[in-house]
Amino acid sequence: MDHSLYPTWVEIDLSAAAHNTRAVLEIAGVPLMAVVKSNAYGFGAVEISRTVLSAGATQLAVARFNEARTLRQAGITAPILVFGMVTEPEVDEAISQGVTLTLHSFENAVLFSQRAKTLGGVVRVHLKVDTGFGRLGVLPGETIDLVRACRQTGGIQIDGIYSHLAMADEAPDHPVTQQQIQRFTSILNALESAGLRPAWAHLANSAAAFGLPEARFDLVRVGTALLGMKPFYFQPFPGELRRVISWKAQLASCRLLPAGWGVSYGHEYTTEKPEWIGTLPVGYGDGFRRQPGNQVLVEGRRVPVVGRVCNDMCMVLLPHEIPVGMEVVIVGRQGGQEITTDELIDRWHTSQADITTGINWRVPRIYTNPVK
Ligand SMILES: *Cc1c(COP(=O)(O)O)cnc(C)c1O
Repeated sequence: MDHSLYPTWVEIDLSAAAHNTRAVLEIAGVPLMAVVKSNAYGFGAVEISRTVLSAGATQLAVARFNEARTLRQAGITAPILVFGMVTEPEVDEAISQGVTLTLHSFENAVLFSQRAKTLGGVVRVHLKVDTGFGRLGVLPGETIDLVRACRQTGGIQIDGIYSHLAMADEAPDHPVTQQQIQRFTSILNALESAGLRPAWAHLANSAAAFGLPEARFDLVRVGTALLGMKPFYFQPFPGELRRVISWKAQLASCRLLPAGWGVSYGHEYTTEKPEWIGTLPVGYGDGFRRQPGNQVLVEGRRVPVVGRVCNDMCMVLLPHEIPVGMEVVIVGRQGGQEITTDELIDRWHTSQADITTGINWRVPRIYTNPVK
């Protein structure tokens, strides 16, 4: 594969994603629903789905119906849960495509049941309960009533029930997490006693799958960890996981600029003496954020980005002349140095998922070590 085809590209190590899938299954000890929303956080939903399914994941989840459609069109037949809102035409398509929807309200139940009866099919759902996230779901006290309402109206098959944790990534034993687990458990107990408990109860994202055995229930719902991103903010990268992503570029230009030469919009940086300034074909239009303190790897060493990041380019201060076309690492390893997404969370004040999802699709994804 000739990477010099592109000024900048992302490399995705599929064997590492397969390894992480097996590691999560081993740690959690329950089946795995792989979360591949927003194009698998920028890694590519079809390639990642195929890889994690072949490594042992048995269900998939996405945020929007059109993401599920893309997977079905690629020939993926595994169960797919859609987390988010769906429109009426999407409900119809979910019935014919066998895609599982989230039932999060009584209005949902009315719509789903009506469409199922009209089309003579069934809407498969996982029920969403809000145990303390404040986003989507019925409140704990309404859950049993909603299950009963679905049974009465018909056309809805409740395969699962789930909720989402607000604090699992933040701290290991956060009291809010304990409260959410308790609420979820009492709902399950109540459903159980009424003979209404769905087959799949699930609560754990990456952080909980790793750190909270009591949150694992019937399956874990994991995204970032499969992609080699750190499950917790508060702990180092776990030894069981492997990094999956690298982001690279070629040096576009290298010039000795005279002393007092302004660099980029606003001249926030000006050379003090004659300096070697390199230009990279990477900008905020690619997902490289305009934040202070950016660094990249050149010849296995960290060099600073100087001046403002532009839409399509940025400049770096080089120690000496570097040949144009030399490989530069934005994220990943070079020589003994490594720039990880963990490091960028601090610099860009956001989540790893936001960083990788934000790598624009004009940056080609190159898949390495595919698993058969
Ligand atoms: C995104 C998401 C997940 C996956 O979270 P990770 O931290 O990436 O493992 C799980 N459940 C829901 C409802 C989500 O929206």
